[in-house]
Amino acid sequence: MSAIHLQNLVKRFGPFTALRTMDLHIADGEFMALLGPSGCGKSTTMNMIAGMEEPSEGQILFGDRDMAGVPMGRRGVGFVFQNYAIFTHMTVRGNLSYGLRMRGAPKSEIDRRVGAVAELLQLTPLLHRKANRLSVNILQRVAIGRSAIMEPAIFLLDEPLSNVDAAFRAVMRTELKHLQREFKQTMVYVTHDQLEAMTMADRIAVMDHGVLQQVGAPLDVYNNPANLFVARFIGAPGMNLLPGRPAESDGGLVIDLGPLGISPPLPEGIAAVLRGSNGEVFYGFRPEQVTRSVDGRGLAMPVSFVERIGARTIVHLGEGERSVKAVFENDAGAVVGETLVLVPDAASVRVFDAGSGRAVM
Ligand code: ATP
Repeated sequence: MSAIHLQNLVKRFGPFTALRTMDLHIADGEFMALLGPSGCGKSTTMNMIAGMEEPSEGQILFGDRDMAGVPMGRRGVGFVFQNYAIFTHMTVRGNLSYGLRMRGAPKSEIDRRVGAVAELLQLTPLLHRKANRLSVNILQRVAIGRSAIMEPAIFLLDEPLSNVDAAFRAVMRTELKHLQREFKQTMVYVTHDQLEAMTMADRIAVMDHGVLQQVGAPLDVYNNPANLFVARFIGAPGMNLLPGRPAESDGGLVIDLGPLGISPPLPEGIAAVLRGSNGEVFYGFRPEQVTRSVDGRGLAMPVSFVERIGARTIVHLGEGERSVKAVFENDAGAVVGETLVLVPDAASVRVFDAGSGRAVM
């Protein structure tokens, strides 16, 4: 019943199409993140699931029930926005229990559920406190609790952590995941923060310009980006992409930096596909998936900048379109101006057709 099916969903605002033919199936009890840059259509999708916007085309089903024309209050969804909506004149307990009191739940049940949610969200010591005396961080926690306590079968959260501070965000990521495990809800979580999506979601739906780019488990999306957008967007820093073309002779790749001795030969058939589509490719590898060459063979590039971030070092090499980053788990000892020879881990190398942007390997 609480699976969500979005079928051929389109949303237009006047002449502008905010969402193009979205097909997405969210399983009962799944934690799905909608991830993408600002304006990609995440909130629009969410608002249609909630019943705040009607689709221009397509269908939304909860289980096998068509939601067309079903108002928000009848959909059985809980919704938490970026800006917490709580009653500031009430105590934390008053806020948490509000929905259950309106529903006429017995006092014993209200007390039990307030106790459980407060415990999960670390609000127990604050239950008697007036909301207007609490920080933004705590208020957002109360807002989440107030919605969660109704135990909606479907819980929708739109950037709920974007206004809380970084340390608190980290704590809340864990708590939200616990909350979902505890209540076994279907959760849809809108965010532009890939760390949130990566750490909490069972699957991530990556969106750009109103188009669903890829749906997959976090590591799958990270390891096997479907196209150039996902390759650049996922990962911090994103995937390195160097322009190249298939070699005429041996089925390997030629990068414009010179032939890449370490590049694996392209699998049978792919070189032909690439030649058919003009042959221009991007050779992709993750900054984390490189080592320094021991025999001098590999990708030789000058170091342009060295960024030390705690235990990790991000080394920037080359410039412009022919630049890459390499992440080392220690002080890489790299010096600006020297040439480093990098060897991308062969198993993690990806190749994209430059024309369509699609991954071919
Ligand atoms: P953000 O994180 O910035 O909210 P988003 O991915 O959630 O981004 P949406 O809010 O879904 O994006 O907006 C998608 C596009 O639709 C944007 O270009 C936005 O300007 C446009 N849009 C959203 N709502 C309306 C509206 N009511 N009327 C006109 N255009 C709208």
